[in-house]
Amino acid sequence: MIFLFQGGEPLLNKDLPKMIKMARDNRYLTAIITNGLLLDKHIDELVEAGLCDVQLSVYSNTIEKLKPILPIVAPRVPINISFVLTKSYLDSIANINFRPLIDLILLCRDCSSFKFNICQPQHGSNDFSETICTGDANYERFVDLCKRELKNVVFEGYKARRFHLSFNHFSVFMPDPLDLTSDKRGCKQPWSFCVLDGVGNAYICCGCCTDKQVFEASDPNIDVFDRCEGALNSPKAQKVRSSLRDKNAPLQPECVDCAFRVGGYSSNI
Ligand code: SF4
Repeated sequence: MIFLFQGGEPLLNKDLPKMIKMARDNRYLTAIITNGLLLDKHIDELVEAGLCDVQLSVYSNTIEKLKPILPIVAPRVPINISFVLTKSYLDSIANINFRPLIDLILLCRDCSSFKFNICQPQHGSNDFSETICTGDANYERFVDLCKRELKNVVFEGYKARRFHLSFNHFSVFMPDPLDLTSDKRGCKQPWSFCVLDGVGNAYICCGCCTDKQVFEASDPNIDVFDRCEGALNSPKAQKVRSSLRDKNAPLQPECVDCAFRVGGYSSNI
């Protein structure tokens, strides 16, 4: 099991190394999701505490700041990159052949990170104006250009093989464009993790991608490990997993208008 510290910026929590050590002492693997801006300052104490994996979220306005940080931290700990690709950013770099994004992917490849995960934006409403939707000409151009230009890269997701074990290879995941009319059921979230929030509720999916209440939480009075297990094995969780696997089963309401259902998410961990 992996303990993943995320939500807000975990590097702002001064107890993070202590919590990582506690998890490691109890024989759990540990990971953080971070924007990385403080990573070079804290990498020594985090590695010493036993940090196993970093999920680095990169945004269009942090690319430049991360350029000097990445080569410092990448040799110290395994890093996977997530880049939230918004429609407005994609359109803004279309006339320069998407160079800043392609250069960022190359930098990550050359820093020996394992995976570059392009994500659809998550939001708490049905506003999909920043989401890449089917038929987006710039996205099609971007995907084709990446495949032509990027060498020594394995592609996953859109227009690529569906699943690849990327050991020893740097891989790039391209999300499927959003098509809410599609009956595709490609979300892997309820299999890959359980979220424990700041007040101790456990959920089977992040819930960020929908404005509906996320799946039922288990009893807050019981031990956190049992609570996570309770959420993962709850009747609601089982229903969600079955409906994502079986095209004939009715989709659970939370999943109907969720960008992740049609392939907008791939776990890095
Ligand atoms: S498709 Fe369903 S299970 Fe997957 S992230 Fe969206 S709401 Fe959660």
